[in-house]
Amino acid sequence: MKQLLRQMPPVHELQRDAQFHSIANYYTVDIEILTEYVKQVISEIRQEIIKKTWTGPKPGSNQFISTVFELLKKRIEQQQSYTLKRVINATGTILHTNLGRARLSDRAIEHVIETAQNYSNLEYKLEEGERGSRHIHAESLLKEITGAEAAMVVNNNAAAVFLILRALAKEKEVVVSRGQLVEIGGSFRISSIMEESGAKLIEVGTTNKTHLRDYEQAINEETSMILKVHTSNFKIMGFTKTVETAELADLASKHEDVLFYEDLGSGVLYDFQQHGIGEEPVVSEIIKQGADIVSFSGDKLLGGPQVGLIVGKKHLIDQLKKHQLARVLRVDKMTLAALEATLADYLKGEQGIQQIPTVRNLLMQPKTIKARAESFIQQLNNEKSGYSLRIIEGTSQVGGGTMPEVELPTYLVALVHPTLSTEQLARKLRIDSKPAVIVRRHKEEIQIDLRTVTDEEETLIIKALLTHI
Ligand SMILES: *Cc1c(COP(=O)(O)O)cnc(C)c1O
Repeated sequence: MKQLLRQMPPVHELQRDAQFHSIANYYTVDIEILTEYVKQVISEIRQEIIKKTWTGPKPGSNQFISTVFELLKKRIEQQQSYTLKRVINATGTILHTNLGRARLSDRAIEHVIETAQNYSNLEYKLEEGERGSRHIHAESLLKEITGAEAAMVVNNNAAAVFLILRALAKEKEVVVSRGQLVEIGGSFRISSIMEESGAKLIEVGTTNKTHLRDYEQAINEETSMILKVHTSNFKIMGFTKTVETAELADLASKHEDVLFYEDLGSGVLYDFQQHGIGEEPVVSEIIKQGADIVSFSGDKLLGGPQVGLIVGKKHLIDQLKKHQLARVLRVDKMTLAALEATLADYLKGEQGIQQIPTVRNLLMQPKTIKARAESFIQQLNNEKSGYSLRIIEGTSQVGGGTMPEVELPTYLVALVHPTLSTEQLARKLRIDSKPAVIVRRHKEEIQIDLRTVTDEEETLIIKALLTHI
């Protein structure tokens, strides 16, 4: 062993090697830093030799030097690789929360890049040549789309709920139906957020039924708000009663200093109900029915970046904009760019909304998916892949805790590998494929739902499947 350790090349010798310099050039790493890495690699090999776990070539051989440089390259690559990686979502779940919810439209991405690469008028009035406010971006679009008097953008809808409660109901009472005290994935609880905000929660009604009179009886001088929360991620069936937005708005308007706030959760700007999909009310409808303030997410059914959107009465939004927390919860320029571009598409009608991936995927026709599944199988068969392949009927989920009851009819490519188990193949697709492919597993089959897969991604999946055969 001592003999082996004595044969270890000194660092200055490795530094003189041509490979050292070509690695420094290729990876654009400073010589000092690369030297540090070489020392670490050598030290690790030394430890392995001492522990007798070293299985590589013997020090002193030419091969040994090459192995050191191979390990050095691996080390740099490991350090340079991102933890946030692109994946292909072949599950068909459109707003897969674990996979980043909505993906952005091409136009949104272009606007993000332009805004990030350059200076912008983020807080500057070009007309006057003076300091401006970032709050104006997206505001006029939101006003136009929702019909609200004013609008504001914060980090996410959870932040919107918090800001609204803190700024407009702190130390006052907020009346909420027991049936709407929801918990939304990732530990967001209406009751906890309310406690944090300093507003006092007054629960009314029961889990399945709340009547208008329950709200009426709860209102007193301490009441500042009636809150309606969209029960996005569950649905109570059977004997139920909730009070309509218009009735609550009307009740609030009868009391001075009581306002009506609706947390819509997903909040759609396009009416999916006209296609028989879900029961999401359109934001403009909620405004029309008299809500004083409404909040919703940017990266759920809207199909934009992660933001919380607040729309409603101007005097209330002005109060929110002036609040200290507005500075804490503000969004960055890239987010505003993505939002603005996404919203602009909503003003162009059907053609515009087809540009938004979330909306497009939701509206995708089963027959389109079937034709794509057929072509997908054809391509694999042409390569004599050896996979056993068939098309089956199935359903896609909307995901993101929205429209839990909606099952979108789809067609799935069901496949079985000639030798690997579903578990083994799914793992290979996740770990060995670049980008990773996330699929559904059902008993002995892998299932691919092309609803959430682009044409380009389809080719990548085929390639990945062929390399694992
Ligand atoms: C999703 C949701 C939220 C939280 O929104 P984020 O944008 O995820 O922060 C709040 N309230 C309701 C009703 C929701 O559905």
